[in-house]
Amino acid sequence: MVFEGGENDPSKREKEVIEFWKKNGIFEKSVEQRKNCPVFNFYDGPPFATGLPHYGHILASTIKDVVPRYWTMKGRYITRRWGWDCHGLPIENIVEEKLKISGKKQIEEIGINVFNQTCRENALTCAHDWGKMVERIGRFVDFENSYKTMDNSYIESVWWAIKEIWKKGMIYEGKKVLLYCPRCETPLSNFEVAMDNSYKDLTEESVVVKFKIKSDDAELSKASLLAWTTTPWTLPSNLALAINPEFVYVLVKEGEEYLILAKNRAKNYGLEENTIKEISGKDLVGLSYEPLYKARLSEEESAKVYKVLPADFVTAEDGTGIVHIAPAYGEDDYKLGAKFGLPVLSLLNNKGRFVEESPEFIRGKKFKESDEFVKKDLFQRNLLYKTEKTTHPYPFCWRCGTALYYNAIPAWFINIQKVKSRLIELNENINWHPDHLKYGRFQKGLESAPDWNISRNRYWASPLPIWRCKECGKLEVVGSIAELEKLSGKKVEDLHRPFVDEINFSCECGGLMERVPEVIDCWVESASMPFAELHYPFENKEVFAKRLPAQFVAEYIAQTRAWFYVMHVMSTILFDKVPFENVVTTGTMLNEKGEKLSKSKKNYPDPWGVIEKYGADSLRLYLMSSLVMKGEDLCFSEKDLKETYQKNILLFLNVYSFYKTYQQGPADFSLPQSQHILDKWILSKLNRFIKETTEKMDGYDVVLAARNIEGFINDLSTWYLRRSRSRFKEGDAEGIKTFGYVIFQTAKVLAPFAPFVSEYVYKTIGGDKESVHLCDWPVFDQNLIDDKLEADMEETRNIITEALRLRAEAGFKVKQPLAELKVKKASESVQTNVSFGELIKEEVNVKKVSFGGQFEKNMELDTELTPELKEEGLLREISRQIQQIRKEAGLTPKDEILVRFNGSVLLNQILEKNKKALAKDVAAKSLESGDEDASIKLQKKVKISGDELWLGVEVNKK
Ligand SMILES: [Zn+2]
Ligand SMILES: [Zn+2]
Repeated sequence: MVFEGGENDPSKREKEVIEFWKKNGIFEKSVEQRKNCPVFNFYDGPPFATGLPHYGHILASTIKDVVPRYWTMKGRYITRRWGWDCHGLPIENIVEEKLKISGKKQIEEIGINVFNQTCRENALTCAHDWGKMVERIGRFVDFENSYKTMDNSYIESVWWAIKEIWKKGMIYEGKKVLLYCPRCETPLSNFEVAMDNSYKDLTEESVVVKFKIKSDDAELSKASLLAWTTTPWTLPSNLALAINPEFVYVLVKEGEEYLILAKNRAKNYGLEENTIKEISGKDLVGLSYEPLYKARLSEEESAKVYKVLPADFVTAEDGTGIVHIAPAYGEDDYKLGAKFGLPVLSLLNNKGRFVEESPEFIRGKKFKESDEFVKKDLFQRNLLYKTEKTTHPYPFCWRCGTALYYNAIPAWFINIQKVKSRLIELNENINWHPDHLKYGRFQKGLESAPDWNISRNRYWASPLPIWRCKECGKLEVVGSIAELEKLSGKKVEDLHRPFVDEINFSCECGGLMERVPEVIDCWVESASMPFAELHYPFENKEVFAKRLPAQFVAEYIAQTRAWFYVMHVMSTILFDKVPFENVVTTGTMLNEKGEKLSKSKKNYPDPWGVIEKYGADSLRLYLMSSLVMKGEDLCFSEKDLKETYQKNILLFLNVYSFYKTYQQGPADFSLPQSQHILDKWILSKLNRFIKETTEKMDGYDVVLAARNIEGFINDLSTWYLRRSRSRFKEGDAEGIKTFGYVIFQTAKVLAPFAPFVSEYVYKTIGGDKESVHLCDWPVFDQNLIDDKLEADMEETRNIITEALRLRAEAGFKVKQPLAELKVKKASESVQTNVSFGELIKEEVNVKKVSFGGQFEKNMELDTELTPELKEEGLLREISRQIQQIRKEAGLTPKDEILVRFNGSVLLNQILEKNKKALAKDVAAKSLESGDEDASIKLQKKVKISGDELWLGVEVNKK
């Protein structure tokens, strides 16, 4: 296998590697060869195929590739199957746009069949682009054979789950106040709202409204209760006022008006001086008032409404200490209303517009735009006490951006309260990365979790498998296709609406059973992924038995309260087991300035562009070694990516290309036995590198594992290779063997992180397996890790750094040898082991290193130049010039050269005297004096210490 892309073209090299993997089925082989090994389960959270993949997806895909690749090399059997989320609002919104329709009425006009068929056709719109992304970043996953949540088999498993939960008595039908999107005409679940930043600060006018008291008491009958609200549009639905019975209220007089509000809120309205008397909150309970707008109510209902009710949720933090209650439009309102038997007065239709029964001046108007009209009306009737600007967080639909409102609607729920303590208990068995999520965001979410609203009032989704008798109201939950066929006597071809809506059967009472109109929240599908992917329990019972829990899942941090949460709920209820053992959550990717990545603003570099430029390996390493892997935000920087490329990929390839020039004979990757101190040191470093990477990856600390790479490659290049080049040039076979072994092992350690460059190096260096991804993960040898040697080497390098600084200060070129370096303090072993002394001498370019406590300074250089040292300096400079000519002409160390020279008398004399040694130094066959010859192609005139020198190089190319 030849990779023409070579070392300098990441894009070409990586594409050739992709072709190689595809052609030879390397992914399939990597899975297959572990078939009889212990299973490692990994769940891939299915994405929607309706949007193009972006950096966030690349990040998720990379982590989902790195970890399974690692464990595969560690000898685990890991199947990796792609999945698609096909149902739900994202696709419905796209199809509405495509069909140029909007809202439920128009959908039903064109027909649910047409609508859903269009959804089906468009559910995988971007699948091709996803395929390209997945392939290009090197993700090993079975993409073709993907599962889809819209498959009948998948839906059937979800139905099975619903029936199981129903059998446990944990599904109920209720009415609940939920945030509701009038555009999508469906409620949103609490975690959907909590998931992203759905709240934006809005500045609006809040109002304080006067409610006239109806009382026999002469004083009270003149007074009004002051209630505060930020949503004037809910006032026509007002059915009660709430006060806190623990508070003290005051009756105040302003002008001719008598008003009542909480005592410690009076100051905020400048009313504390006007107090006539104090009234205990308890004494206000039960008072009646005149409604602002009279609702059409039954006699029984009328007896209960327009009264003051006690409620402990009334605070003294804002408003007047008196709260307006509209049970249809607030969670507390609904609960209080239920407690006191109030009706739920809904004046909005499904689209958030006021219905016929509403006051005339807002009929047909949208909820939010009605605020103005209500205020105007109250003002004209002298019922508006005050308006004031208030800034408060307001929720918006995460899909379509429409302002949401709280709305009491019929809905189906999973009773989370029943299983809550078990959810919290089982969380003990999950390892969270970063670990603060465990008792933080996740556990807090569990503790405060409301019941899960699993129904949606939509179309393109798994239908809720509940049938209800029109006569007696009996409910029947269907758990499989076979069951439905048996009940109805009909063949069931498609589980989607509208087909399933047409399937009826008769009740024991003789009445007709019809399916309820709701569909299932698509999070139920995501939650069912571990078993529904396998069509369990209808198929794959044995496979699934080994498939739960997953050892590993990964997603961005918002999924803590979404996918991770719903999987945990589902798995706990159905199997009483955690769904996963290790979770890695990533943070959010921002642009360089810390702004959200926005496709429309184009405020970030195109991912395809940077992959072409620096390669997918670099992007993977960049992402994996950033704090985004620890759930923090990452400000994407192309500059940093470039640096990752240079310091990891490019540097490793540079080291490797040196190895190729020295490599002699066939590759031998058995453990080298060299006793050279640098070889022993790099083997120690290599084994430590493997050990640390293994430990970090075993603990799912991908960041620290990935960050290790740069340090090791740096040691390999800037110390080991740098200090070994001359002995390699001289053909030190054991040294070169060590060098090759280290590169070979490094390629394997890099394989999960940078799968392309590792494959390239492994294949071209002569690895024995078909692919590096079919190799076992390298095992470190603790005996080869030498702490003392590493510490001594570190010390030696520090001495050198300091000495080089002194040299530079004294103004000597590195090529000019100096007589002596005196070092006052060094450890015993660095002083006595001559190898360290040799390293210092070579690197600092001094003839002698002396250690001794008697020296005055910590470090001192003898800077006196003898004629011998000067001569040596000149020779080294000439040698460098000849090497430069070689390099510029693109010659390799194996190309034979003949060098001729002609310079000043002094230079000619020195060269004549040293020509043999110099020839050897520059690997020339000979070095002779001679006249300048214009016919020689490679020639150059240089200045050496002020004297001119002509150099001509003839090449005998090999
Ligand atoms: Zn919406
Ligand atoms: Zn019945």
